[in-house]
Amino acid sequence: MTIAPTPANAHAASGPLADPNKPSHFLRQIIESDLEKGTYAQRRWGGSPGDAAHHGAGGPDPAKIRTRFPPEPNGYLHIGHAKSICLNFGLARDYGGVCHLRFDDTNPEKEDTEYVDSIIDAVNWLGFDWSQPGNTLPYQASDYFDFMYRAAVYLIEAGHAYVDEQTPEQMRINRGDFGKSGLNSPQRDRSPADNLARFEQMRDGRYEDGAMVLRAKIDMASPNINMRDPAIYRIRRANHHNTGDTWCIYPMYTFAHPIEDALEQITHSICTLEFEDQRPFYDWLLQRLIEGGLLASPAPKQYEFARLNLTYVITSKRKLAQLVYDQRVNGWDDPRMPTIVGLRRRGYTPEALQLFAERIGVSKSDSWIEYATLEGCLREDLETKAQRGFAVLNPVKLVLSNWDEVMGAGHLEPCTQPALPHAAHGASAGTAPEGAVPPPERHFAIGQEVWIEREDYEDVPPKGYKRLYPPRSGPDGEMLPGNKVRLKGGYVIECTGANRDANGIITEVLATVLPDTKSGTPGSDSVKVKAAITWVGVADGVNAEVRLYDRLFLDANPDASGKDFLASLNPSSLKVITAIVEPSLANARPGQNFQFERHGYFVADRIDHVQGSKPVFNLAVGLRDSWGK
Ligand code: ATP
Ligand code: MG
Repeated sequence: MTIAPTPANAHAASGPLADPNKPSHFLRQIIESDLEKGTYAQRRWGGSPGDAAHHGAGGPDPAKIRTRFPPEPNGYLHIGHAKSICLNFGLARDYGGVCHLRFDDTNPEKEDTEYVDSIIDAVNWLGFDWSQPGNTLPYQASDYFDFMYRAAVYLIEAGHAYVDEQTPEQMRINRGDFGKSGLNSPQRDRSPADNLARFEQMRDGRYEDGAMVLRAKIDMASPNINMRDPAIYRIRRANHHNTGDTWCIYPMYTFAHPIEDALEQITHSICTLEFEDQRPFYDWLLQRLIEGGLLASPAPKQYEFARLNLTYVITSKRKLAQLVYDQRVNGWDDPRMPTIVGLRRRGYTPEALQLFAERIGVSKSDSWIEYATLEGCLREDLETKAQRGFAVLNPVKLVLSNWDEVMGAGHLEPCTQPALPHAAHGASAGTAPEGAVPPPERHFAIGQEVWIEREDYEDVPPKGYKRLYPPRSGPDGEMLPGNKVRLKGGYVIECTGANRDANGIITEVLATVLPDTKSGTPGSDSVKVKAAITWVGVADGVNAEVRLYDRLFLDANPDASGKDFLASLNPSSLKVITAIVEPSLANARPGQNFQFERHGYFVADRIDHVQGSKPVFNLAVGLRDSWGK
């Protein structure tokens, strides 16, 4: 089964019906229950993000739910983000909603437009789209700075916030801890007018960075430390990529995030478990701002799910950046990287990643997903989609010594094989509807010399070996003939021996061709063989660079419990070889996926492969799961 990459929001009209083919989970149940109860049915939408008045002036919200994917543009997205993207955009698609792409760029120090572009690319490539009537651009949290400032002023005026001049160290000590309730700041009871004056001076640049902060006034004795008067604004002189030097105070993430959700009329704000303890503040803040008439009701609600942990993979942006900057890998899009650009270059498809996200589902408790699950999804997607091709990865020449005699000197015999064997079965002769496009075929030629895999010949066959081996004496001293195999799509051949160099290395395998046995001709069944081997003609084979990738780490949990992840880097995670491929492979489009028959799934490298003249392929995944072996 594969999942078609439909743009999420294009289907906003498709209705809130649950898809019975998709595994249900607690978030689906929450949404289905909200839709049934009409929790959000009365919401209005002002056509763009805004405050209560803006949305109040709009019509009923055409989106049944609103979710969001809010990356901080401070790095490349990885497989964990892919899960979050598929989840948020997928839920919006499935329930007649809209998912917002929002750049959470309220922290001025770490952001970069390079990351903004790569995030847009990644979301689009995964098959999702955030556009809706009247809006095609992603949202940016920094566009809400004015509102955030207004919200802070309101909290001060209503007695819900104060400026605190304690040092960070004093604040930390006075916050208390698990068993010890906190101590009120000496400035906690300053008048709203005083607080407002000071906050305006903060904004006007009258104080040094870090000299004071604005704090919400909640409860210093709360058992939840996040409710002990959290800081909501700080002084930070930093140039912001969107707002430049307009601001020298910036909102804290915990203050900014609920407001961003509310301005965008998000209904279900889905985040990872580490934000669970922030939920009371999220709710507290939005209730205060709804009371004050600043934000529309009902407020968005936050739900937490377990982040993706994948064995053999690290998903911390900081650690991935270290791999890049220390040149342990060749950039963010190195095919060994779990970034979306890396997975793409490795040969992963959007459909495989969507399938993976569906299959692992969402849960409320942390667990590890086996890397093999991800690989299985790719195999499943490519099985019917990837064109087949022959590639010889460890070549030795096979010479058909009777070729010129029985086939004609220098003769090249054209051969064909289906590019998509599954499609070929589906449209067998006579049943294909008129005008149907026939399944594609591959064309190549056989002559006197072909390349075969070195491992397809043995002087002395091990028990059960069915490929090429020479004549040998039988139990009674009689000579038994050499073994016969089919060159797949070509002829049956009979092995006669091998030539070697001075070091005993085999230079040529020798065989004779049985001329009436060509695949697809009436004589093809006349000789029974136990094996068919893949091959590439010497006349039309093309040299290709093939990059054989293995896992990047040898340890299944490379960075668990503070381990040094660099210590378990796999020294042979990349092996580059020269293979010989059939002509159709040399003509691959960059980024095209293939199954190299018997070897695995490969992709023509998006960057380095040059169609026709310089083929370069990356190993995406082997044919079978061989991790445990
Ligand atoms: P990092 O801590 O490595 O910088 P992050 O979680 O802070 O990553 P953001 O850009 O803030 O990265 O994340 C955007 C969204 O992606 C968040 O809503 C977050 O919940 C989600 N996300 C990030 N990592 C994972 C993961 N491993 N599994 C599921 N969702 C994730
Ligand atoms: Mg983050």
